[in-house]
Amino acid sequence: MSGPDTKPSPVIPAQASPVIPAQASPVIPAQAGIQAGAEHSDGPLRATSTSLLDSRLRGNDDEALRGNDERAVVLLAEPRGFCAGVDRAIDIVEAALAKFGAPVYVRHEIVHNTFVVNDLKKKGAVFIEDLADVPPGATLVFSAHGVSKAVQREAQARGFEVFDATCPLVTKVHVEVAKLAREGYEFLMIGHKGHPEVEGTMGQLDAGIHLVEDLAGVAGVQPVQTKRLAVVTQTTLSVDDAAEIMAAIKKRFPMVREPKQQDICYATQNRQDAVKMMSPSVDVVIVVGSPTSSNSNRLAEVARKLGVPSYMVDNAQELQPEWLQGRPRIGLTAGASAPEVLVQGVIERIRSLGAVSVRRLEGIEEKVKFPLPKGLKLDAPPA
Ligand code: SF4
Repeated sequence: MSGPDTKPSPVIPAQASPVIPAQASPVIPAQAGIQAGAEHSDGPLRATSTSLLDSRLRGNDDEALRGNDERAVVLLAEPRGFCAGVDRAIDIVEAALAKFGAPVYVRHEIVHNTFVVNDLKKKGAVFIEDLADVPPGATLVFSAHGVSKAVQREAQARGFEVFDATCPLVTKVHVEVAKLAREGYEFLMIGHKGHPEVEGTMGQLDAGIHLVEDLAGVAGVQPVQTKRLAVVTQTTLSVDDAAEIMAAIKKRFPMVREPKQQDICYATQNRQDAVKMMSPSVDVVIVVGSPTSSNSNRLAEVARKLGVPSYMVDNAQELQPEWLQGRPRIGLTAGASAPEVLVQGVIERIRSLGAVSVRRLEGIEEKVKFPLPKGLKLDAPPA
């Protein structure tokens, strides 16, 4: 996808400028060892204690107060968290609940985030994997990852009222596959086996699409013919890994047709760019995201590849104090399916361990929005 949101992120200034206004700055809790009020050299907050974070981790404040002068700071990556496709998918379930009432059935987790799924369950969504578990006449939503043609056909045959929350950027890949297949192309799909998006995209065809997960996969794949061979990718891959695999494909199949615009989406690209920019400035990167979230896992990998230890957490309670020990500059980001409320919870947790300031790094402002499907628009007349 092209547009302003696909441009590379601006370089983080050497002294990343605080963009959180003073009135929006987190309030330092009145805890032992911390005093707020005096001006911090690189932010509006400061603590008069030293190495407080380390002291909490060691459980020895006295030792920390005699320690070095490093003050723990949280640097927030920008952009992070929800993308336009996730926003739309959640809105679709909520709009369907508002319009048709509970229960609304959702095939697979609407997005890969535990908090989001549990929240929608409380509101009346029922998550299923098998359409046989949906009663006749029910309202059904397809998840943001997309579905195969076989699933679409089965839902139609069973007569459900279907709303498709497939991200439009995934649908774009489906459309491309169908179009090129009609022109006689065979496909290599770069992606992760078992991921629902991969199953949905590969399931656009009955045959002629081969999954390639890595360089070994490129060496081993055996297309029936190579004159009309095209590549598509999962939207949430590591940009660098995909480029490496693509280079190997081109080496083995020089005539291969690449996507006109890369299939990796703007949100994946922007969040990975933000972690790349942030990593040289931090000692550890915490990624808020569920273990099933592909793009969240890729963010942690990006930091690790740059030599920065990185950990994923599904919620604040999962954050382990020892991860922060001796690492006063803490980078924080979130996958495209992780809501900001979880990020704020992690910030609170890190502050409770002694971090004294939070600074949002400069980055791309995303303005992408996708409309709701017909029949679910807020101003749509009741059925
Ligand atoms: S991560 Fe990308 S492809 Fe996935 S829902 Fe978000 S915008 Fe769409």
